[in-house]
Amino acid sequence: MGNGYGAEAIFDPDLVQWVLQPRGQRSKRGPQHFEHSVRQGIRLADYEHVLGEHAGLLKGIFPDGVARLWGATSCETPGHAKAVAIRGQKVGDEVLFYGEGNFIAKARILGLLRSHQLAAAVWGADEDQKAWEHVMALGDIVEFDVPVPAASLLVELVKQKTLRSLTLVSASERRRHLGLLNDLLGEHASQTRRPSEAKRAASVTRMRRDELLHALGTLEAGLPEKQRTRDVSLALLWAIGRSASGESLTPEDVCRNEVGPLLLDFGARDVNFTLEHTFRHLRSTGLWESVGGLQREAARLLRKPLTRAEAIGLLCSSYLQDVDQEELLERVGLAGYGNASGATDGEAGEGENEERPSGRRERRQVSGSRAGRDPRLAEEVKSLYQHQCQICGERLETRFSHYSEAAHIQGVGSPHDGPDDLSNLLCLCPNCHVQFDKLFLFIDEEWNVRKSRDGKFVKALIRSPGHAIDEKCVEYHRGLCGRGAYSIDLN
Ligand SMILES: [Zn+2]
Repeated sequence: MGNGYGAEAIFDPDLVQWVLQPRGQRSKRGPQHFEHSVRQGIRLADYEHVLGEHAGLLKGIFPDGVARLWGATSCETPGHAKAVAIRGQKVGDEVLFYGEGNFIAKARILGLLRSHQLAAAVWGADEDQKAWEHVMALGDIVEFDVPVPAASLLVELVKQKTLRSLTLVSASERRRHLGLLNDLLGEHASQTRRPSEAKRAASVTRMRRDELLHALGTLEAGLPEKQRTRDVSLALLWAIGRSASGESLTPEDVCRNEVGPLLLDFGARDVNFTLEHTFRHLRSTGLWESVGGLQREAARLLRKPLTRAEAIGLLCSSYLQDVDQEELLERVGLAGYGNASGATDGEAGEGENEERPSGRRERRQVSGSRAGRDPRLAEEVKSLYQHQCQICGERLETRFSHYSEAAHIQGVGSPHDGPDDLSNLLCLCPNCHVQFDKLFLFIDEEWNVRKSRDGKFVKALIRSPGHAIDEKCVEYHRGLCGRGAYSIDLN
C-alpha cells in the first residue's frame, strides 16, 4: 500500500498534510469514542484477540501498551472527499479533530491500518452496521483548552464554514494556511494577529509546572523497559540544554546527530540501542515534539529558572545517578547546574581554591555579578554565627581565631542568578560547604538538612533569629538536588 503503513514516524514537515476529522455527533457516540480511544486510549492487551496481523505494528508504535486510535467507516463513492482522504492520508500527517464548529484537538498519524475486527471491538458499529475500520494510530495528541472556531480556516480550505466529512488538505495548502491556524492557536504567530485572537490564544493548552515535573519524575511509567528511561531522560536533558540557550525546535538531522552520540556516551549500553525507539518513547511522554525538541508548553515552563533547576535536578537524580553529571551537564550546555554555586571546574564556589587534578577546562568567564559580590555580607553572616557551621555545628578553630565560609544557597551569577543578599547566605564549615555546594545535602521545607541521595536526615539547620533565610533560594537549591516539591520519593 502506498500509505507508508508502519513507517518510522519521522516526518519531513514540508510533506505533512492535514486530515480534517469530524469527531462525530453525540447521536453517533462521537464524543464517547473520542474519550474512549483517543483521550484514554485502549489497552492493547484487552484486544489481543482482534489485533491479528497488526499486533506488531501497534505494539511498536505504543510500547507502553496503550493505543490511541481513531477510525473512519469506508466510503463507497469514488471522488468523495472522504474516499480521497482515506486513500491519500499517510503516516506523519496531522489530524485536526473537529466538533460543533471548532477544532478541538490535533494529533499525529503514527500508523494506518484497516481492520474491521479491531474497529468493531473498539467502537462497535454505526446505525448502518458499518465499523470504523480505517484505523489511524495517533501520537502527539494536543487537546485545545479552548475550542478554536474553525469557520475562517474551513472557508479557506473547503469553501464552507462547517466540516461535513473527513477531508484531506494537501501539504502545500497546509503550509499556506498553517500561519492562520497557528494564529488561532496562539503558537508562534507568523501573521498579524487581531486582538480578539490574541486573547483567545493565551489560554490554549496550558501545561502546569506540577504536570511537567510529574511527567519528568515518572518517565518509567510509560515505558516498557526501565532501562529506556535513561535514554529518554538524556534526550530530554539535551533538549533542556537547547532551550536554555534559546533554541527550541531543532532540525531533525541536527537532533539525531547530537542525541545519537550522547546516548552512546552516557546511555544504557546494555539494551539494544536504537535512536528510533528513543524518539518514539520521547513522543509517548507528551513532552516532545515530533521534530527535534521539547513540546511548546514544556519549553515555556522550562524558561523559568526554578522550574528548569527542578527539572534538571529531577532528571539527574532520578535516572542518571551513575554518570559523571558535571561532564554530562557540560556536554548538553548546562554546565553549572551540577552544583549550587554555578562554578565549573577550576573555579571554587566562594573564591576559595578548589583543587582539581586536571586543569583541562578553561576558566569560565566571570560574570559581573560574581565580581560584584559584597564581601561585607560574607563577613556579616560569619560573625552572626560566630563561625559556627549552620549544618554540623562545628566551630573550626585556627591558631588565633576561627574559620568559616559564607555559602550562597542559590548561586550568584550564571546560570543560577541568585541574589547577593544575606538572606541567600549560610555560614558553613568547609566540609559542609563542599557537600552543600555539590548538592549532596539539601534543606527540606522544615529546615532539616538531609542527604539528596536518600532523603536521610542529617541535622536540623541552625538558624539565628536575626537571619531571615530566603525560602525561594532554598527551594531553588532543593530543586537542583532533585528534591523539589514534585520530585518522586527516591527512598
Ligand atoms: Zn559543617
